[in-house]
Amino acid sequence: MAETVFQQCIDPACGGTADLRDTAFRCPRCGGLLDVAYDWNRLPVPTSLKHFEAKAANRSNPLDFSGVWRFRELLPFAPEPALVTIGEGQTLCQRADAVAQYVGLNVGGLFLQYEGMNPSGSFKDNGMCAAFTHARLTGATRAACASTGNTSASLAVYAAASDTRAIVFIGSGKISYGKLSQALEHGALTVQIEGDFDDALGRVQEVSRQLGIYLVNSVNPFRLEGQKAIMYRVLEALQWEVPDWVVVPGGNLGNVSSFAKAFSELHALGLIARVPRLAVINAAGANTFYHLHENHGLRWNGGQFDRAKIDTYYAALDASGRKPDTLASAIEINRPVNLPKALRALDRCNGVVRAVPDTDMLDAKAKVGAGGLGCEPASAASVAGLRELVREGVIDKAVRVVCVLTGHLLKDPDETVAYHSADAALFDAKLGARGVKQVAFANRAVRVPNDLTEIVRAIERRA
Ligand SMILES: *Cc1c(COP(=O)(O)O)cnc(C)c1O
Ligand SMILES: [Zn+2]
Repeated sequence: MAETVFQQCIDPACGGTADLRDTAFRCPRCGGLLDVAYDWNRLPVPTSLKHFEAKAANRSNPLDFSGVWRFRELLPFAPEPALVTIGEGQTLCQRADAVAQYVGLNVGGLFLQYEGMNPSGSFKDNGMCAAFTHARLTGATRAACASTGNTSASLAVYAAASDTRAIVFIGSGKISYGKLSQALEHGALTVQIEGDFDDALGRVQEVSRQLGIYLVNSVNPFRLEGQKAIMYRVLEALQWEVPDWVVVPGGNLGNVSSFAKAFSELHALGLIARVPRLAVINAAGANTFYHLHENHGLRWNGGQFDRAKIDTYYAALDASGRKPDTLASAIEINRPVNLPKALRALDRCNGVVRAVPDTDMLDAKAKVGAGGLGCEPASAASVAGLRELVREGVIDKAVRVVCVLTGHLLKDPDETVAYHSADAALFDAKLGARGVKQVAFANRAVRVPNDLTEIVRAIERRA
């Protein structure tokens, strides 16, 4: 008899499967990506999403308190005693009217899903608790990742909390101090290799295979199971009404893949009546997905997508020596590992891709910050991309949109200080040198002599 939970190749024509406990995270038949698959008929699925409402109130049970595991019937791959939690997912989906006006939506139309409130300060914790749960099922004692920063921070925190050895691969010079400080402070073995993120990800997969170390990059389908909960919480906040659009920054394309899986499963289970549309926002300096989907017409095509288009594009990147280049380090990725899953996601949710310049991202970030939510540059790609899509008329101003703010402001304070600074040398060093010419919403500190009258005058003139 077939298993109730297993891993399944995303290519319907391949049909390859792997055991629940397998940790290769590659289809044994074709080498492609895997999904966590369930035989829902043999699992207890609630008949209405309202079932989950009472759980959030039951704070004394850590599994109900967790913003991931209180939805455990929707990611039922492990028994309750195996579930790992450190209180992830206590996040907010907040209506943001000033930002709505900025992007051109009607008042009341925009919600910001703020994932900076997670234990390690980014959405990655939603996935990491699920990956660590799977790691525990497999008996792993060491876990590794390659990271632009936030995955390593999350890995380090979960490893420290669960007696696991964390090993982090980072590229040289591309990690913010906020994130690096977390990996170091929480005791991860941090391996800095010469090269960028894409190089580091290639190596960590080889090393994990060779040494039998559990891999927590987003090729790990169990991580993506945990990230589905971000969308469950969005629905919860909207009283189970499906928004018209969900907009998310795109790096390795794990989130978008995970969100589409969440919505298609809910739809198939009859728990929602329709799926939202998805928009993925690349940085202009790391825009592989945008190029392939929007300029080269690459489509999922039932799993028979045109691999040659991808190979040709990567060969051209190599030939020109072009490296990803954006201030949004969390999405500074040219070879997104989840590209095929993301194509499927856009196919299922009628999605689009856009790419936004760093300047637009930083301005959007300042607007979000002025509204009270502090996010890092990559997160604000969602808001900058939404603004572009409204301007194009792709997103109507009268609809309801959720932008995911993926990480906390304090992850990357250097760029924020430079953005607001009146110090031209600082601006040039941090932003000018990376192609940012001018910014729209700088909140300058005011210089005043140490004199009461002058100080009072300076304040009264401005506040
Ligand atoms: C990891 C990360 C992303 C990219 O998410 P993907 O799932 O890899 O597309 C975006 N923003 C932040 C803050 C991140 O840490
Ligand atoms: Zn396969």
